[in-house]
Amino acid sequence: MSNITVCARFRPLSSKERRDHGDSVCIRCIDTETFVLKDEKEEDIMFSFDRVFCEKSDQAEVYEFLVLPIVRDAVNGINGTIITYGQTGAGKTYSIEGPGILECDEQKKGILPRVVDGIFEHIKPDKMAKYSIKLSMVEIYMEKIRDLFDLSKDNIQIKESKIQGILLSGATEMSIIDPAQALQSLSAGIANRAVGETQMNMASSRSHCIYIFTVQQELTGDKRMKTGKLVLVDLAGSEKVEKTGAEGRALEEAKMINKSLSALGNVINALTCGSGRANHIPYRDSKLTRILQDALGGNSRTALLCCCSPSVFNASESLSTLRFGARAK
Ligand code: ADP
Ligand code: MG
Repeated sequence: MSNITVCARFRPLSSKERRDHGDSVCIRCIDTETFVLKDEKEEDIMFSFDRVFCEKSDQAEVYEFLVLPIVRDAVNGINGTIITYGQTGAGKTYSIEGPGILECDEQKKGILPRVVDGIFEHIKPDKMAKYSIKLSMVEIYMEKIRDLFDLSKDNIQIKESKIQGILLSGATEMSIIDPAQALQSLSAGIANRAVGETQMNMASSRSHCIYIFTVQQELTGDKRMKTGKLVLVDLAGSEKVEKTGAEGRALEEAKMINKSLSALGNVINALTCGSGRANHIPYRDSKLTRILQDALGGNSRTALLCCCSPSVFNASESLSTLRFGARAK
């Protein structure tokens, strides 16, 4: 009944993990949906998700299973959201961007460049239909929204319109005319993210990055427009901050991230447990959930990719990531 697809992805062990903690992994895949995690007490915990992507699975598999159905819907006017969740270093950005947005290695291309290709493959402009595609990119840091196409806009407000739904007031909307130009825009936004981080002395893992593609279809002789929004979210790292380690701003960052990630969990939970009764969905509890309001729930589709390190060293963080996913089912 739920429109939420939950998947887990385990990246290969990194060379650092191999060097420091050896080759042993805490994950065992049983079939395409079931896997077992060995926790710190050496106990096996079994999970069953819509799909599990083990270290050997590639970017194309993730795209085809999790993202392609959402792209198909978006060009037909149905909103959708793809979210990557997990501790820093778990593979969220790798899944979304690939090794680099302009990277040409077909096999390693991430979700974003595949979404761009997918949109252009699925729209069918002809005498009857005209399309316009727009792209916005924003970042949420300490509950403030920054425009990644224009860093001078560092306090974007969220508005709601009856016709257009949730709007980022004043945020840049790039008109996308072909895949190559879309990749250039994405690459510029990602480069800007790094500039902003240096200016604010902040790590990218401490902010949520949000990509919004809007596909508008105009049919000749029909005044109505069909609009589909596809939102990609590269979340801030979900790791617990050491109680002793964090103080000052690091602690404030950690609290904000915690708050928005639990708000996201609560919204997803309220949507999946909604069983008919008109229950309250707490979208307003964070900027993140508010931005996602019209692309999360209703008849829109949601995909959650729970990214994990397979190393025994990270077992407890992986467990908490997988519990977040299990709660969304
Ligand atoms: P996150 O965004 O969750 O903090 P990254 O996506 O930056 O993590 O991944 C951390 C490191 O692991 C990067 O060097 C990345 O290239 C590598 N990595 C992540 N996922 C994979 C994967 N599926 N295959 C190969 N390398 C990966
Ligand atoms: Mg990242």
